[in-house]
Amino acid sequence: MFETTIAGSLPKPGWLAEPNKLWAPWRAEGAELEDAKRDATILALKEQEDAGIDIVGDGEQSRQHFVHGFLERVEGIDFAHKVEMGIRADRYKAMVPQVIGPVRLKGRVHQTEARIARAHTRRKLKFTLPGPMTISDTIADRHYGDKVKMAMAFAELLNAEALALEKDGVDVVQFDEPAFNVFMREVKEWGITALERAAQGLSCTTAVHICYGYGIKANVDWKATLGQEWRQYEEIFPALAKSKIQQVSVECRNSRVPASLLGLLQGKDVLVGAIDVAGDTVETPEEVAAVVEEAIKYVPRERMLLCTNCGMAPMRRDIAYAKLAALAKGAELARARYA
Ligand code: ZN
Repeated sequence: MFETTIAGSLPKPGWLAEPNKLWAPWRAEGAELEDAKRDATILALKEQEDAGIDIVGDGEQSRQHFVHGFLERVEGIDFAHKVEMGIRADRYKAMVPQVIGPVRLKGRVHQTEARIARAHTRRKLKFTLPGPMTISDTIADRHYGDKVKMAMAFAELLNAEALALEKDGVDVVQFDEPAFNVFMREVKEWGITALERAAQGLSCTTAVHICYGYGIKANVDWKATLGQEWRQYEEIFPALAKSKIQQVSVECRNSRVPASLLGLLQGKDVLVGAIDVAGDTVETPEEVAAVVEEAIKYVPRERMLLCTNCGMAPMRRDIAYAKLAALAKGAELARARYA
């Protein structure tokens, strides 16, 4: 009951990449960079274990960004000529690469870090990949001319990598779909189909993470426009509940999502976001347990896991790990309370 896990990314050490920012430039190159990524991956696992996290991840220490880390290993993409694009329905502008031909994997994407992670922890291991809809919304299309067609092409590549990750010994494959909270109509039309294509044939646990984004200014400003109650989940959860994906990771702590919406995820494991990633105040275990108290009215206790609201890449390291320790202590408290 109340196993703990992370949404995905963790801050990188200062010797690996510039701290406290998204898309942080690497601090080394070549073989030195590969060594630094390896060391940072092992360190991230150790720190999660010490914090008391049950299902650990590589903290995305080997990727500069959760989407582009995947795209870098895909053929048919021009990284040399990035263009500015409004993403998540123009919430912010980003310089994105362009799809200029049929996409194909150059080889394995995350084999190195997945095998390193598997070799260095006995705990359950989760591995994150960007979801097909979110990829399609974070890249400029100069080839397919059709968003759905392009998303399905990426879903096939994601599936190949996911199946290989399972063979590497990963226990959970999670697809990150922040775009699901923006294009709710398309989620029902094709987003879930693309997601299921990405997860096809997996026998390990499958998950999808749907949040309101990293704690960066563009997201904080966007949230301020969403009104008193955030009901985006209400539109997509009934369709997700019917999907083959087993776990859904959602944002709860300090958000305006009504807890009752979690009740729409019948039959799914729910990864309840009990740690805010948009603020530096470290939660108390009591505050984590208070999120459980709300969620348990709508999610059966045996189906509830505790998680962070989103990735922690742009945060300060000491704060991020203090928050993970609070998450684990809060879970302990909740176990004692609801055992
Ligand atoms: Zn997120």
